[in-house]
Amino acid sequence: MQKKTIAEVWNKRPIIIAGPCSAETEEQVLQTAQQLSSSNNIDIFRAGIWKPRTRPGQFEGIGKEALLWLKKVKEQTGLFTTIEVATAKQVEEALEHNIDILWLGSRTTVNPFSVQEIADALKGCNQPVLIKNPINPDIDLWIGAVERIANAGIKQIGLIHRGFSAYGNTTYRNSPMWHLAIEMKRRYFNLPFICDPSHIGGRRDILANIAQTSINLGYDGIMIEAHINPDDALSDAQQQITPTTLHTLLQQIIWRNEKIDNADISYIIEKMRLQINHLDDELMEILSTRMKIVEEIGNYKKQHDITILQTNRWNEILERALLKCEKLGLSKEFIIKYLDAIHMESIQHQNKIMNN
Ligand code: PEP
Ligand code: MN
Repeated sequence: MQKKTIAEVWNKRPIIIAGPCSAETEEQVLQTAQQLSSSNNIDIFRAGIWKPRTRPGQFEGIGKEALLWLKKVKEQTGLFTTIEVATAKQVEEALEHNIDILWLGSRTTVNPFSVQEIADALKGCNQPVLIKNPINPDIDLWIGAVERIANAGIKQIGLIHRGFSAYGNTTYRNSPMWHLAIEMKRRYFNLPFICDPSHIGGRRDILANIAQTSINLGYDGIMIEAHINPDDALSDAQQQITPTTLHTLLQQIIWRNEKIDNADISYIIEKMRLQINHLDDELMEILSTRMKIVEEIGNYKKQHDITILQTNRWNEILERALLKCEKLGLSKEFIIKYLDAIHMESIQHQNKIMNN
């Protein structure tokens, strides 16, 4: 029997979803679920039944048969279950087997045809649906998927941030691009926002750090891969951890609240925020003054047929700033991005003048 109702789990913070990347055997599924359910924190069990693999010839999931194992998970542990669905047929089979929550994987969110097919198959049902970000860093596709699922009448929609594909080796398997996730969270502040450190990290040693970062940013929960025997997992072995390791990881996370309920704390923060607002106003005024000078220079360059881009001058600006920034406690990376944005805006202003 389930310990809570699905609505309770949906409204609980943090929402913790854990389980293997893939269901492999009945024993592996049941043992993992049993070990996970010993923690009160975990309410939802995940497992991939149909696995979207980047290249053929790899383990593609057990398929329908594993749905019976998940039914046993519910009966034996009281955990709710969630799986990825990528086609209408998979939705049908999942619903037939009483899977509690469905999720759209990142390779599905990227494809409006697939999302629409799933949305049509979901019409009339009231299962909650989680939507992972698309593999590529395009939040419009993510928004589009939310809209399609919402238009199908699904009331409980949640978002999962699993990072974005990036070419070449990076620290992460999928670059978190936190700014995109923050923008999505801003737009859909009412929807549960869940981090998937397993697919962002791709390796065990950075999972805790990614999970903590997400909680620091006010995420509502975590979806994480756990396996009784991670090294032998048939998919995503490097990023899976044992249920015991997961229990420790969850105990070590410092859970934070986005809401400030204490009036004193709120007053102190508000005062500092006012200062920030004044500084932001000043920054904008300075930028506007800077842009007026840029325009004057633009007119002058136009009159004398001088190019907008003066590579030496641009190098000089960067060098001057890089010399100063560290003393001011600003990272080089930030200053380069900041100046680059200002420079591109200046070029646009001058280009407009030249082409007029
Ligand atoms: C998964 O959760 O195992 C999975 C395939 O995830 P994603 O869609 O994020 O790649
Ligand atoms: Mn996986």
